[in-house]
Amino acid sequence: MNIIRIKDTSNKLFYIGGVVRDEILHKESFDIDLTYVGNAIEYAKSLPDVEIIKINEPFGTVRVKIDGKEIDIASTRAEIYERPGHLPTITEIGCDLKKDVIRRDFTINALAKNFNSGEIIDYTGGLDDIKNKTIRVLHDKSFIEDPTRIIRALKFAVRFDFELDEHTKELRDNYLKNINYDMSFKRVKKELIETFSLNSQKAYNEFIDKNIYKLVTEKTVTKPNINIENIINKYKKLINPSNIWLIYVGTLEDLSKLELTKEEKSIITDYINIKNLKFNSDFEIYKTFKNVKPETVLLYGILNDLVPVINYFENLQDIKVEITGDDLLKLGLKPSSKYRECFDEILMEKCLNPTLTKSDELNIAKKYIK
Ligand code: ATP
Repeated sequence: MNIIRIKDTSNKLFYIGGVVRDEILHKESFDIDLTYVGNAIEYAKSLPDVEIIKINEPFGTVRVKIDGKEIDIASTRAEIYERPGHLPTITEIGCDLKKDVIRRDFTINALAKNFNSGEIIDYTGGLDDIKNKTIRVLHDKSFIEDPTRIIRALKFAVRFDFELDEHTKELRDNYLKNINYDMSFKRVKKELIETFSLNSQKAYNEFIDKNIYKLVTEKTVTKPNINIENIINKYKKLINPSNIWLIYVGTLEDLSKLELTKEEKSIITDYINIKNLKFNSDFEIYKTFKNVKPETVLLYGILNDLVPVINYFENLQDIKVEITGDDLLKLGLKPSSKYRECFDEILMEKCLNPTLTKSDELNIAKKYIK
């Protein structure tokens, strides 16, 4: 576990959740969560050599800086879901550790480790579930209260190569037959991003085959008969890593429930604009794909036809006209829309024969001008 130097004498400070799970699994943690049994804000203020960065009074959390590192310390808290699918309401701050633990999503995420003694506190059987590679909810209403946990379960299953326990699967399948769409899609999107950034065909297969996608759209989906993970790996250099998730989730017809960013929206709308196109020449492929993001091109390949996409990425995307407007001017052509036509003429020839040189291009231009 990451070493944090806190001079704790309270014995009420615990590592909690993912960080404990990751240590047992010998995996690196993305962040370190600490919880204090009592009021974490007062506790943090009492610590020597600790700088308080931010206090969130209603949640009882505090961000501190220790040895140059920023860490959140939360007060133990109990919660209830007054509105399933939305953030819970806090009913108690500073409750006992057990109450804090049982509000969590899965047994593997409900372990605590005493900061001082290193003792692991396991109220829910999380240690056994880690050993048996099992993801298990803590109670039967878990997915009703927070359906994003269905996607979280998929994420952890794929990340650690774990399986959902049978009863948890049953609860998931029942919920997916009767989804309450009054939920926070901001959180759904966050979990989708984390899950599909893993770039895993296995995650996608589960997402579609087990109907998890129904959390995003009520429209039925036909799974493309293509391995998306392999295609992404092949063209990874061209893709903005933060858009990998969208190549998977973009295969759903309707993303209207998700709040997409401007860039994400353009990837999807550009795909919708080109999805029915059939190409008769390399030049048409070049002109169409050159104007959209590689992510859009990949969606076309996955959902329509991979052949022109491979042709574009392997042979066409780097084709460029070398001559410039100045060259056309020197050949006696006055600036006008004719320039575009002339460059297109050259591009068309270069798509047929990419080895054409600059002087070949000049000859084509001369012929065009004539
Ligand atoms: P990661 O390694 O992906 O960050 P994590 O387990 O640390 O995984 P976080 O999203 O950082 O996940 O959440 C920290 C902890 O908070 C979890 O381990 C879990 O105990 C609890 N938690 C997070 N999301 C939920 C949720 N939707 N419902 C209940 N508990 C949750």
